[in-house]
Amino acid sequence: MSSSFSPDSYKSIIDSHFHTQSMLQRGMDVFSLFDELFESGFKGGIDIGCTHNDLPERSKLLSPYPQIILAGAMGPWEAGKSETKETDIEAEFSMTKDMAQLQAELETLKENIRRYKARFIGEIGLDYYWDYGTHEKQQLLFETQMKWASEMGLCVLIHDRDADDDVAATIRRLGPSKGGVIHCFDGSEKVMEAALENGYFISFAGNLTYKSNTGLREMLKKVPLDCLLLETDSPYLSPVPLRGKPNSPEKIIHTYTCASEVLGMDLEKLKDIVLENFRSLCER
Ligand SMILES: [Zn+2]
Repeated sequence: MSSSFSPDSYKSIIDSHFHTQSMLQRGMDVFSLFDELFESGFKGGIDIGCTHNDLPERSKLLSPYPQIILAGAMGPWEAGKSETKETDIEAEFSMTKDMAQLQAELETLKENIRRYKARFIGEIGLDYYWDYGTHEKQQLLFETQMKWASEMGLCVLIHDRDADDDVAATIRRLGPSKGGVIHCFDGSEKVMEAALENGYFISFAGNLTYKSNTGLREMLKKVPLDCLLLETDSPYLSPVPLRGKPNSPEKIIHTYTCASEVLGMDLEKLKDIVLENFRSLCER
């Protein structure tokens, strides 16, 4: 990759949520990008786990980048093919799983989290849009991992799609003690309330920049500044003006710019605040 960044252009910038493996699967030259970003001052971020057995490979891939922190988890998609809804979804999520299989996969995951020293449990949560497996199976995965987080003293990274009531209730019931992050916050007041009461950060992704998301931008103004994070969720959710293209961490600059405009805050000041918040999350 030719050098497209000036030496300090990513100074103080972080990306709290991205998927390196998924970027690689889309043929993106991720490691050249990381090298260039770090040379331009980028401060790193969290590489997110999706399945019970992705930690061994992710740990190997990212070992040259100590600034990229590993999270491990079974997301709601690991509940298997939807048993309640016809969905047209990627083949990797097309398998029906029974409870015994889910329990066995949880065991493997727990072992991997310990062995590969994952520093976060994420992403976990509920997705009633794709309706993976059944709500009961999704809840089993979500609750089990929320409990581990308290046992292991780790923070969680939460995914919520169309499941605001159950996500808020689970946060209120299970914490965990060190809190975590609501990733790709979609504007739900209920979830934000439960999250802030339990010491969570609220992370905004590229959809903050979408023209129609006026409500989400209004919610950004309500988040206490010391609880604010930003993310790309790469390779998904590219911000305007790059919507529709695969996302990657350098594009987070558009989300920072949008957030600084919404908040009426100097961009450099916002970078410092988000960096400080990210560091305090990592130190918990
Ligand atoms: Zn994600």
